[in-house]
Amino acid sequence: MNVLVLNCGSATLKFQVIRTDADRIADDSDERVAKGLVDRIGGEALLNFQVPGKPPKRSSSPIRDHRAAVDCVLRWLVSEEAETGLRSLADIEGVGHRVAHGGERFTRSSLITPDVIRGIEDMIDLAPLHNPHALRGIAAAREVLGRDIPMAAVFDTSFHHTLPEQAYLYAIPYSLYRRYRVRRYGFHGTSYRYMAYRHRKLTGTTREQTNLICLHLGNGASMCAIKAGNSVDTSMGFTPLEGLVMGSRSGDIDPAVMDFIAAKEGLSIHDVDMLLNKQSGLLGISGLTNDMRELEAEESEHQDRRARLAIEIFCYRARKYIGSYLAAMNGADAIVFAGGIGENSPTVRARILDGLQWMGITVNEDRNESMVRGREGVISTDDSRVTAWVIPTDEELLIARDTMRLVHGIELPI
Ligand code: ADP
Repeated sequence: MNVLVLNCGSATLKFQVIRTDADRIADDSDERVAKGLVDRIGGEALLNFQVPGKPPKRSSSPIRDHRAAVDCVLRWLVSEEAETGLRSLADIEGVGHRVAHGGERFTRSSLITPDVIRGIEDMIDLAPLHNPHALRGIAAAREVLGRDIPMAAVFDTSFHHTLPEQAYLYAIPYSLYRRYRVRRYGFHGTSYRYMAYRHRKLTGTTREQTNLICLHLGNGASMCAIKAGNSVDTSMGFTPLEGLVMGSRSGDIDPAVMDFIAAKEGLSIHDVDMLLNKQSGLLGISGLTNDMRELEAEESEHQDRRARLAIEIFCYRARKYIGSYLAAMNGADAIVFAGGIGENSPTVRARILDGLQWMGITVNEDRNESMVRGREGVISTDDSRVTAWVIPTDEELLIARDTMRLVHGIELPI
């Protein structure tokens, strides 16, 4: 089955086409047909389309909205020039959508029905910055591919539905949880599900034997404690703002700071919320950039003090979380790194794990240095009690597989 996987942002559309079925899942031979990105939707958009093994096709074109972006992607996918082997739109047999927030209702991926769409709309209150984009993608795909195209929603929050109350409740009046569902939800769930799945495959272990601390370190960054295969704690909360230091998000902060900054700077609470989301984190500390690669270059080439400070604070926060999750889950068997930074920065990985020898984890420098650009493997020494891994994440693969299973009535794995 050819599944189109869509991930819509405010002005972006990321896509992949993945060919998958039960046999391919069994021997891990799902096929990547094409992938790409439409950036700057709403103006002169930048298009980057690629078929594996061929050079990427880069171009620009005015793209009005997400519907036009989906239309443009599909026209390219079935064009002769793309050489995808897809001959017409009928060759796309299902669409999988990444949806940020599933609230308490969506504990697993779901086939999209009018009722599911209403459910995603109901969640807009909780995820005003994210869910509307997914809804736009759903409407666009339906318009371009027709009403009968089967579609699935895969939620960033679902994997964390196993969090125990002690991990998901905030210590605020319980009535606020009852009235408005103010609680911790966690995000990056599909990425964690992939890391846990892949770790099981690589180590020949079962779900019940899966006790991991996973770090998804990209522009958005979070961590997850996985015990017996279930998410038992995660660092993002009610929104993706909580937890680790991120590209432009502060992560954990004393909430009293909001009122203080608002008064001092003459800002509204909404403005301060934006400041914590968009101008803080690595960008805020360094005053330079939210991009880890650029900060590393500034630090090593110009000895920039604040670039160094930003990286230090990023790594220190992550290390503290590792310690707290070890306590929360009574120890772990492995630590897994993923995301743009986790997969590509040996320095950040080494700095996060530095000083954790006491708990049985020592980084092997050569292994760590070699694990970049999509490579998967162990970066700790053989005698480390806790193994450290790099496992490049693949959310699209799980979205495609879930979509195929839902369409064919195959039970979803837990
Ligand atoms: P997003 O959360 O937007 O999906 P990514 O997972 O693509 O983000 O991660 C982006 C981050 O990864 C950026 O901070 C980028 O600098 C960082 N990154 C990518 N490659 C490297 C590298 N070689 N060294 C250090 N950081 C890197």
